Amino acid sequence: MGGISSVTNEETLRIAEIFGPTIQGEGALIGVPTVFVRTGGCDYRCSWCDSLHAVDSAYRDTWTPMTPEAVMARIEALSGGQPLMVSLSGGNPAIQPLGGLIRMGQGKGYRFALETQGSVARRWFRDLDMLVLSPKPPSSGMVVDWDIFAQCVAAANGAPSVLKIVVFDEVDYQWAREVAGRYPDLPVYLQPGNHTPPPPDDDDAVVDQEGVDARMLWLVDRVIGDRWFGAKVLPQLHVMLWGNKRGV
Ligand code: SF4
Repeated sequence: MGGISSVTNEETLRIAEIFGPTIQGEGALIGVPTVFVRTGGCDYRCSWCDSLHAVDSAYRDTWTPMTPEAVMARIEALSGGQPLMVSLSGGNPAIQPLGGLIRMGQGKGYRFALETQGSVARRWFRDLDMLVLSPKPPSSGMVVDWDIFAQCVAAANGAPSVLKIVVFDEVDYQWAREVAGRYPDLPVYLQPGNHTPPPPDDDDAVVDQEGVDARMLWLVDRVIGDRWFGAKVLPQLHVMLWGNKRGV
């Protein structure tokens, strides 16, 4: 992201990486051509996080402070000025002041999806073209604050919203069923966990594809066996194609 001026006002966004266009690899927008804006910093520390470079403060020096205008200019340069879907991810993008960027981009015809664990509610969630709420299951080691999560659902205020839940094991699966039961109006996407977070100094960690495939088959069996016909079970397409490699 060289050549982009640094800024330090209250609208400053901490950006870990901007890349694409590529396809969205998971969830409700799987297969959709997308530019990704990954923000730096997260209020969680999931045991299996696959985005440590956008979470751990050890990487803070690699995060670039940028204005919304500079981020938008980068998105437009990558897309050749042709509007497309922009995915805001992290880290937890909800801890960043992204409302201005979203409004600016939508004024130019771009659409914005944001994925967050649901630990910080923002008024600007209502402006999103899609809010992906991805509460972290027990295997993450995190504990969800359900009051704040409910505030996130409410903040969407009619903006299309979905649940995306990563499942590693039976405990996570039962938890996912319970969460889906709390929010019967939200479409549910289940995804088998990818157990191989990249070590700090390795961008191209090897994926345990056999393990992921086995969990995917098991998850399909569980969902069908339970006649949970409202759920959608999807793999991480980008992991199948490129492993845990960054920036694709
Ligand atoms: Fe990583 Fe997401 Fe967990 Fe943050 S919430 S630590 S980005 S998996």
